Amino acid sequence: MSALDEARDLLASLSGAPVAGVWSSAGRVNLIGEHTDYNEGFVLPFAIDRRTYAAVGVRADDIVRVASTFDPDHPVEMPIARLATVFAGDAGAAVQRGEVPEWAAYPLGVAWAALDAAGRGAHTVAGLDIAFASDVPVGAGLSSSAAIEGATAFALDELWQLGLEGIQLAQIGRTAENEAVGAPTGIMDQVSSMLGRVDAGTFLDCRSLEFEPVDLGFAREGLVLLVIDTQVKHAHSTGGYRDRREACERGAAHLGVPALRNVGVDDLDRARSVLDEVTFRRVRHIVTENQRVLDTVRTLREQGPRAIGELLLASHASMRDDFEISVAELDTAVDAAVAAGALGARMTGGGFGGAAIALVEAGAEEHVSRAVTDAFAQAGFAQPRIFPVTASAGAGRDV
Ligand code: ADP
Ligand code: MG
Repeated sequence: MSALDEARDLLASLSGAPVAGVWSSAGRVNLIGEHTDYNEGFVLPFAIDRRTYAAVGVRADDIVRVASTFDPDHPVEMPIARLATVFAGDAGAAVQRGEVPEWAAYPLGVAWAALDAAGRGAHTVAGLDIAFASDVPVGAGLSSSAAIEGATAFALDELWQLGLEGIQLAQIGRTAENEAVGAPTGIMDQVSSMLGRVDAGTFLDCRSLEFEPVDLGFAREGLVLLVIDTQVKHAHSTGGYRDRREACERGAAHLGVPALRNVGVDDLDRARSVLDEVTFRRVRHIVTENQRVLDTVRTLREQGPRAIGELLLASHASMRDDFEISVAELDTAVDAAVAAGALGARMTGGGFGGAAIALVEAGAEEHVSRAVTDAFAQAGFAQPRIFPVTASAGAGRDV
């Protein structure tokens, strides 16, 4: 059954009310530009052909109830008037106190942030039942989190007549993730998930929030982009991700700039003399990665996707050696894919697990997949999940 039908079925089992509509948003792959988003830099992600669907029914009362196929027997409900009390102010506290299950803080957090952004009082909107189903792998670095936020935000914008723009809905997703869930992630995931275009990457300036589509041309040039999901789970709300953010903030403070976006490749010599060794390497990753995003956009436009392989590889090396967010499984995936003929490969997403991507010749998918699978078996790792993705549309209404 398709995820769209699963969402509709779940809504039907939840509520007698008719389906008011189904909205969805995409997972995303980041082609290049990792951890640059919260440094106000550049990223080049694209929305993929894996989506999270939200089937919505209107209720007669003032309650928002959310349910997911992940745990269909435990819907979570909250009076709309309570959303602000629960979520406003302290990042992730309601989840930590056990008041709201973590997963439900994504959609309920979107409901809170959307009303807040639109300046609408709780009593002006109708209660809703929202049922989610998804074919985006969770915790794989493909942003199932932004997909559930996007499906929710686009549904609420229409049903509650909030009149918000796409970029505002992306910001609402981020607010929900930062404030309600307590995961300090940047804006990249939401923009690419919600505002992506078919066959295009989303070149986003995370400072100005200006974005433009960049033609990827993979299919036209006889290329396929494979995702290699290592199945090693990561968690954004804890540990390494937060630590890397702090290192970047420390580096920017020592260098006297508002964000590492302000530091260029030419400034790295000075940075080396000012910063401790570890902070310097963290900074060097961000600074060189920003440059690689700009170089990738130019290369795609001037030479096409066959010419970006080296940039993908340099990005991986920088994350492995300078930012230290790769893991053995991701390195093995990249090395084996390249040895088997991939034009380029890199880990993608926040790191510490998740997925890698490999750009391969159409027709070579089987060969590369087998090589990676064999390398995993040889290293004693659990089997990876390998599948192709295509650049797809962002969020919208399906039914
Ligand atoms: P990623 O975004 O890389 O998949 P995250 O840790 O950022 O990983 O987000 C994953 C979390 O988002 C899940 O653990 C869950 O709480 C929530 N989530 C995502 N999709 C769904 C869904 N369809 N139903 C319920 N929760 C979901
Ligand atoms: Mg996420």
